[in-house]
Amino acid sequence: MTDLELPGITSSSRPRAARPPRHWADLDGAQRRDEVVGSGLPAFRADQISRRYFGQDDAEPDAWSELSVPLRRDVGDRLLPPLLTEVAAQSCDGGDTVKSVWRLTGGALVESVVMAYPKRVTACVSSQAGCGIGCPFCATGQQGLTRNLTTAEIVEQVRMARRLASSGAFAGSPDHLTNIVFMGMGEPLANYRALVAALHRILDPQPLGFGMSARNITVSTVGLVPRMLQLAEEGMPVTLALSLHAPDDELRDTLVPINHRWPVTEVLAAADAYAASTGRRYSVEYALIRDINDQPDRARELGRILSGRLTHLNLIPLNPTPGSPWTAADPDVQEEFVHLVREQGVAVTVRDTRGREIDGACGQLAAALED
Ligand code: SAH
Ligand code: SF4
Repeated sequence: MTDLELPGITSSSRPRAARPPRHWADLDGAQRRDEVVGSGLPAFRADQISRRYFGQDDAEPDAWSELSVPLRRDVGDRLLPPLLTEVAAQSCDGGDTVKSVWRLTGGALVESVVMAYPKRVTACVSSQAGCGIGCPFCATGQQGLTRNLTTAEIVEQVRMARRLASSGAFAGSPDHLTNIVFMGMGEPLANYRALVAALHRILDPQPLGFGMSARNITVSTVGLVPRMLQLAEEGMPVTLALSLHAPDDELRDTLVPINHRWPVTEVLAAADAYAASTGRRYSVEYALIRDINDQPDRARELGRILSGRLTHLNLIPLNPTPGSPWTAADPDVQEEFVHLVREQGVAVTVRDTRGREIDGACGQLAAALED
């Protein structure tokens, strides 16, 4: 008997976070076989289901002719419960950017975005509903953390993006999803176990997973140092993006509050260690905010601390969030900033601002819908 079944203790007097049901994508290969064999089916059924799910991005067993009708129902009900309900979808950039807001089990909203370019189609996915880090320029940070996403909730965002990319929606772009960035809502390394399991589903060769290439997957973090070092040892050389936003601890303490725990020198050292053990260059993210972190001195300091490292700098013009006085740096200030950093031998790109008109940055559309 669990606590919840004790007389007099109801679920309303002991609230329990609504957890999503277990899903095929939560299970690794061995667990999927165990699940199938435990239901009295031959083990090869596990590969058949995975081939549908990971190979064809199909989670609707009704049409799976290789399975008997009762088996299809059983599989659908038990192993492929719907986890994401689309509550809004918006597109902009001539249809090349599509943002979806999903309702999760328990009601929380998260979002993902698919962006089509001439040579790639990128999905930006969420790892948490809300975020507990609380960066003051970020819409998600203002919401606080509702809960971690499960592995399957992350994988389902990827599957939906793959379906969209393969549907012919993006003329002039590859006809399939090529890249994934963990730059939606949440701090992926704060949901480490689900993240790593989701990365396995994304990278494992078919039929075990989607079989995507590690170099095309980017995990963005504010710098949870022990988790960065752990990720380096997982044998999955995904690209790391470090959200720095300031070269000095005084300012970074205010922009990325967890800097109090892991300051600039430590997060950069951890990113270097990641690069050394994976052989992968990392990127440093820097949201340029007018009169906050866009001064020439900061540009010089940033160039100084990044020069000689296996990294490149991604400058992101700030996407203003509702209720915040902060806005993007002036274009000429931005240009000077880029110049001063480049002068120190650091590679710099200015990130395009896809999806601005649909509340493109981190959590803004979902945040607007929560109101
Ligand atoms: N929590 C992780 C990943 C999600 S945020 C992280 O912070 O790295 C993804 C990126 O969007 C981060 O680099 C973050 O700093 C940036 N971002 C958040 N809010 C933004 C805003 N209003 N304008 C521009 N970039 C923003
Ligand atoms: Fe969380 Fe990233 Fe937003 Fe900071 S920027 S609050 S870590 S999602």
